[in-house]
Amino acid sequence: MGRIDVGAAARVVRAGYDRRGEPSTTVVIVLALACIGFSLAFMAAFLWWQPPRYAFFITLGVLGLPAYAGAAFGAWRGHVIGAAITAVVTTYVSLLPFAATFSIASGVQFQFLAAGFLTLVMVPERFVATRIVFCGVIILTMIGVEVFAQPSVAVVPIDDPVFRVMASVTRLGGIAIVLTSLALILMRTARAERELTRLAAIGEQRANTDDLTGIANRRPAMRALAEIDAEPARTACLALIDIDHFKDINDARGHAVGDDVIREIARRLDRDLGARCVVARWGGDEFLVISRDAGLAVADALKQVRADLAYEEVAIEGDIVTLTLSVGLAYRAPGEGTGAVLAAADRALYEAKTSGRDRISVAGPRR
Ligand code: GH3
Ligand code: MG
Repeated sequence: MGRIDVGAAARVVRAGYDRRGEPSTTVVIVLALACIGFSLAFMAAFLWWQPPRYAFFITLGVLGLPAYAGAAFGAWRGHVIGAAITAVVTTYVSLLPFAATFSIASGVQFQFLAAGFLTLVMVPERFVATRIVFCGVIILTMIGVEVFAQPSVAVVPIDDPVFRVMASVTRLGGIAIVLTSLALILMRTARAERELTRLAAIGEQRANTDDLTGIANRRPAMRALAEIDAEPARTACLALIDIDHFKDINDARGHAVGDDVIREIARRLDRDLGARCVVARWGGDEFLVISRDAGLAVADALKQVRADLAYEEVAIEGDIVTLTLSVGLAYRAPGEGTGAVLAAADRALYEAKTSGRDRISVAGPRR
């Protein structure tokens, strides 16, 4: 399988998640630093605006700074999940008094929503309980805020121009975080889907391939036979090919040379017949060639493979190995099941073996 170009989107996801689907150091550090930036900006704005309880909020902001800085440092030192949870919890704790003081008119609900989405981005999927608890807490908090923090509880008039600007910033900031988190989640899902498709293709390929030779194994061969069975009128030709005296090669030169011989025969069969037929390793030193068209000159092609073996030297690990093949060939009679054709090819192979090997034996007609 060729390498898939993952493109810019996946690179963003890679930046956001490591290979185990956990938040990456980069994302948590950026998040913690962004929180420090927001806190400083809010503290500066509150100092300038000086709404009721502003001293409390500035104190809260100051207390939050070491928590965020600790989260950034912790992430940098490799404690990514702890750091992510610290950043999310600190943000959540800061939002509660903000809601109680400025009411839902401040847009704080959007920030809670953002905290919920960040939880889903930051807390890895395998921490199912943590994710459920976090999201449950946020839903309950939002209900509580909706009930107890109506605009009437706001400590400043909600039509105050500064309040309105703050509410807009709070709302739009929340929306931006929600959309960014959603984009990250969707990109990760897309990446996971691509990875699954790739793995499924590799799995399918492995399931159909013989490990030693790389040609088809029994599975695709059985499927091809079933397809022929489904078309009673189709002509077909099956050939069983077995290496002669293969055990002697194993015994005299070792199993590894035996393996090389099997690979070499598979390579030649596949080269000469693979484009037109299913060429499968049927087991041990035996191969099955399935042609879905009896008109195809399978016998001629196999004669050629045998002739090439006789004239071309087969060199395995620098050693010349003399190889011959015995072939049992059977043509399908109209309506005949492939099981019977295969049995006929097997009998023909036996006949080729018992009558001296190194030959092709064609099965006679069946009744
Ligand atoms: P014949 O001419 O009658 O076919 O004799 P043969 O020696 O080839 O006998 P047979 O086909 O029965 O031998 C198959 C041998 O192949 C038996 C087994 O030890 C060996 N074999 C099966 N699979 C492998 C394999 O993956 N690698 C190697 N090296 N040997 C294998
Ligand atoms: Mg053999």
